[in-house]
Amino acid sequence: MLLIAPLLVNAPSNDCMAQQLPFTVTFVDGQRGVFAGLARSYRGEPTASEAMYCVDSWKTQPDSSGTETVFIESLRQARVGSTMSIIDMGNLCVGPKGESLPVIHTHMDGNCQFSVADLVTIVARRAPFDGIQCGKRHFAWEFAWRLLAIANEVERSKFKEAAEKRPP
Ligand SMILES: [Zn+2]
Repeated sequence: MLLIAPLLVNAPSNDCMAQQLPFTVTFVDGQRGVFAGLARSYRGEPTASEAMYCVDSWKTQPDSSGTETVFIESLRQARVGSTMSIIDMGNLCVGPKGESLPVIHTHMDGNCQFSVADLVTIVARRAPFDGIQCGKRHFAWEFAWRLLAIANEVERSKFKEAAEKRPP
């Protein structure tokens, strides 16, 4: 499944630091009210209900150094439940053309790592970005294209290794 991924490579820029980067580094920011609302509703207790938000509106702003900033303009709460991963979300976060919208879900135990189920779902949905809220003001972000690029590279090196081991 992971082999069909396109490897996205950023065009080289004039900035010497960006030239060392094989891909665009994305920062995620948001309107003040967006993150303030998330901070207010995050309770940070392992037993608290987890929440899931669909990002309805965002803008991507490239800059001159090979990085870009995703600016979240609005989001809506899609679901609250005892425990969940984004695999539970079904068709709750779908745009008007049927496209997958980015999802932010909470980890109330403060764990900022995406679970394996989270990662598999991110790759399957192919939204432009996805996030975890793991504290009032702590977020981790992941990108389907980045996971696919890593998976491609792992597969490529496995094939290369197998080919080198084959007797002549
Ligand atoms: Zn999760």
